[in-house]
Amino acid sequence: MKHVEWRVRLAEPLLGQEELEAIGRVFSSGRLTAGPWTERFEEQFARLHEVPHAVALSSGTTALAAIMTALEIGPGDEVVVPSMTFVSTATSVLHVGATPVFADVRPDIFTIDPSDVERRLTPRTKAVIAVHYGGQPADLDELLALCEDAGIHLIEDAAEAHGATYKGRRVGSFGVAAMFSFTPTKNFTTGEGGMVTTRDATLAAKLRALRNHGQTDLYVHESLGYNWRITEMQAAIGTVQLSRFDAVIAKKRRVAAKLSELLYGIDGVRPPVELPDRMHVWMLYTILAEDRDALAEHMRARGIETRLYFPPAHRQPIFEDVDVELPVTDELAATMLSLPAHTRMSDEDVECVAGEVRDFYCARGHDHQARPAT
Ligand SMILES: *Cc1c(COP(=O)(O)O)cnc(C)c1O
Repeated sequence: MKHVEWRVRLAEPLLGQEELEAIGRVFSSGRLTAGPWTERFEEQFARLHEVPHAVALSSGTTALAAIMTALEIGPGDEVVVPSMTFVSTATSVLHVGATPVFADVRPDIFTIDPSDVERRLTPRTKAVIAVHYGGQPADLDELLALCEDAGIHLIEDAAEAHGATYKGRRVGSFGVAAMFSFTPTKNFTTGEGGMVTTRDATLAAKLRALRNHGQTDLYVHESLGYNWRITEMQAAIGTVQLSRFDAVIAKKRRVAAKLSELLYGIDGVRPPVELPDRMHVWMLYTILAEDRDALAEHMRARGIETRLYFPPAHRQPIFEDVDVELPVTDELAATMLSLPAHTRMSDEDVECVAGEVRDFYCARGHDHQARPAT
């Protein structure tokens, strides 16, 4: 694929002078890991998600592995996961020695389908991981009810959903624990980094020990742990990022609303759906598109970056031995496309993205009806 000068990138972190200054303060303090910035980042994150405990870890993936390790999920156990997700939702289950069991997703919002989860439960199932796809919460009430009936854990993969709400309450406190990620394509970034939120003080203490070599006092190692810490530089960036929390979510929502308004009525495109009982934070703006590959090529040729989020996990070479039918996931993977929808986009950028989608379908003789006046 030849190099293109991107006119509109798919995602761009919002980083400013404030983050740089915070890193400078870490440098002059001389304390580069496990210090006050990590504590501040955790406290601020917990407050924003209305949960008593937040524990920062080196990545979202290690955070998921840490949650399952702390819950003593391991060899012989099964964990139900969606396949329409980044692969590490499933590979983190392998990391702890357990078996991921793939379930299908809802065709409208791409989150794990509770009725399909139910069919995949066995006496070995220990947990369900619900991914809040793209920043919109999964069906938490239904999933909680079925996990409670089965006596298993619900874990939230909220990697993409910082600040999203379900029936008015922020994600992060519905399951036994929730994981968040801070890689640069997410709405908030620390370069690399992850966070676990939980209402369970014992679980939080186990996570703190796990990330720091199982250490309870200096050179006293009571359990098997790892080095899963974040640095003070990352925590400092994260602390400043969280001061932009409401502004970032508001801007994301404006960009998504404008895109949907401009894409409405284009024959061949189904803009994303936001359900009335939840607030989407739009880490991803994902459409369903006829002739998806041709549309992606049209956009690329015009300098607009798009991507399939995600090539299904169960189709990855690492899971080639897994025999599972996921018709909705496979069908979606053939038509989904994520368009740029980030905080650095101007109105002109948004119009350019939507305009190119419209031009692509108009050139193919598709109709375009303007949204009816309301
Ligand atoms: C980004 C992401 C992860 C992985 O997080 P890392 O911080 O990159 O390890 C896991 N699950 C989902 C749904 C993600 O989007």
